Amino acid sequence: MTGKFFDGVLEHKFSESTCFLCGAHIQPGKDTVEHVIPKWVQNEFDLWNVRIHLLNGTLIKYRNLVIPCCQPCNNEHLAKVEQVVQANVLAGAEAVRAMDRVVLMQWLLKIFFGFLYREVFLPADRAKPHVGTIVTAEDMEQFQLLHYMLQSVRVPTKFDAFINDIPASIFVFELKEHEPFRFDYKDDVIHGCLCLRLGRVGILVAFDSGAQAFVGADYFSEYYGRALHPIQFDELAASMFAKARTLLVNPKTMFVETPQGIDFYVLPFATSPSRPMFGEMLPEAVGEFLCRFARLPREVVIPEPGKRITFLVTDDGQFRDIPIDAFD
Ligand SMILES: [Zn+2]
Repeated sequence: MTGKFFDGVLEHKFSESTCFLCGAHIQPGKDTVEHVIPKWVQNEFDLWNVRIHLLNGTLIKYRNLVIPCCQPCNNEHLAKVEQVVQANVLAGAEAVRAMDRVVLMQWLLKIFFGFLYREVFLPADRAKPHVGTIVTAEDMEQFQLLHYMLQSVRVPTKFDAFINDIPASIFVFELKEHEPFRFDYKDDVIHGCLCLRLGRVGILVAFDSGAQAFVGADYFSEYYGRALHPIQFDELAASMFAKARTLLVNPKTMFVETPQGIDFYVLPFATSPSRPMFGEMLPEAVGEFLCRFARLPREVVIPEPGKRITFLVTDDGQFRDIPIDAFD
């Protein structure tokens, strides 16, 4: 790889005294830590004492979900990203959709990678290590790629993603706000998907070098500008998560070190019937995710094999406007 990036993932350099982003040595307890769910998000959505389950079974409060981070990475590089994203999220979905896409990608990457770091690389409960069982060598390479992309916050990086504007697929939706459950986080670390509900803003991202944006952007953009009920957002998330599992060919990426920093390329990709980017997706695949996300019984979501219910459109194909209190 290149001298400008830190190869922390492939070299397994994970410890409480190593900055997760640049590899600098830090003193636990004295130096800064990075909150995986940013402090402003915890303030805005009252999350400080809310607890979540990590993959390794640990129950942890959002306030304690932190990763080791040096002061320059924390106070300079990542703080800049937070400021920009905070202003846009508070302004609404349209502002988030229009903001600098690289900054939005960096922000989502930090959250996704932060969970991954805490859950997989640096388990909070070392008596139950998951490394070696749920993460393969191939996964590690993929995660290293994400770690390089994330390092664009500290190493000047120019992204040339020929198949999309950025090397990720991001879709932003306007939501109806559901009190008191205004925040939601779901991820699939192995397949690189994240779903984030922040009040009236819903964000879906697949870290797939832009593959879903390349083939399926129209499907998601159809719902831009509509105020979606959270259950409709769950359904879109289910579609994205299920599709990510059918990815057959990961677009190739390449880095070139320049005097200014790094040029990051996603190489052009040509699909054809004999060389599709994604495999077939069965209705059940989306249905399984929808059951889990919307906490609905399987027989409701998948009434018969090959069929699943939808909350997005009516029987005659029109957009379904669901009142926020419809299921209360
Ligand atoms: Zn650092």
